[in-house]
Amino acid sequence: MTAPDAKTIGFIGLGIMGTPMAAHLVTAGHRVSGYDVNPEAVEKLVAAGGRAASSAADAVQGADVVIMMLPDHPHVESVVFGAGGVLEAAKPGTLLVDMSTIRPETSIEIAKAAQDREIGVLDAPVSGGEAGAKQAALSIMVGGDEADFAAAKPLFEVVGKTIVHVGPHGAGQVVKAANQLVVGGIYGLVGEAIVLMEGCGVDARTGLDVLAGGLAANRILDLKRESMVARQFEPGFRIDLHHKDMGIALAAARQADVSLPMTGLVAQLVAATRAMGHGSLDHSALLKVTEQLSGRA
Ligand code: NAD
Repeated sequence: MTAPDAKTIGFIGLGIMGTPMAAHLVTAGHRVSGYDVNPEAVEKLVAAGGRAASSAADAVQGADVVIMMLPDHPHVESVVFGAGGVLEAAKPGTLLVDMSTIRPETSIEIAKAAQDREIGVLDAPVSGGEAGAKQAALSIMVGGDEADFAAAKPLFEVVGKTIVHVGPHGAGQVVKAANQLVVGGIYGLVGEAIVLMEGCGVDARTGLDVLAGGLAANRILDLKRESMVARQFEPGFRIDLHHKDMGIALAAARQADVSLPMTGLVAQLVAATRAMGHGSLDHSALLKVTEQLSGRA
């Protein structure tokens, strides 16, 4: 059913995160036209009640809001700046919300370019993983103008629970980079805890149950300890994408003239996991590198 305040939304990028997010927007009564280079992904949106767009331009045509959920900055740049892309196809007054995780400078560049065309822009990356997307419980960190944030907030509330305007264009991406270095570090340490316990002949599943109730408790232990102990690494969030995010964090640190030694170490472990051929596995597969380093793989 169409809601009285229904928006026409062009949704570009219907992968692990985009598909459930777009489906929630349909359920909330919005008219969603989805586009993805992978036709199977578009079919999933159609099954959820959305409309299949044949191109990015088709998805953007007549949209009040355009949402992107793409892998990295080159995909975002081609969809925004390319021939028939968002800047060419969107009408003035459209709001462009990029929920992908990309480097902050691209978000700033897009906002500048869109200004001339009277298109508002927000960078609004998310945290919470596939489970958060499916349960409409994402954390959303938003960079951009206050008025655009206020306009987009009802849509954010459809897909997320913690929604915060963190600063100007690019600030959302900086906060997301901070999020990713913490998440990467926790995965690395949970992996080390498992390798230590197993190496000492202690049952890791039982041990992690205790950790999850004490000071070491965290969301990753809650959501992933079972699958990590069972060595189930189906994504979720791919190592390839986390590798990209560690690069964003280190580049931002370099630009800000700050030193992040632990982030550097975690970035190398993620790079090693990828170099070992595990780029398409879930980021919990960081455990595999620790096992390899200990001769236990
Ligand atoms: P994904 O690879 O599953 O989905 C990306 C989709 O974009 C794919 O379906 C791909 O076909 C499509 N695509 C690529 N280029 C395109 C183009 N030019 N036009 C249209 N579609 C195109 O990735 P994902 O896991 O859904 O992640 C998307 C973004 O969200 C990434 O930036 C990621 O870092 C971020 N993110 C992911 C998670 C997670 O747990 N998976 C959590 C938080 C944030």
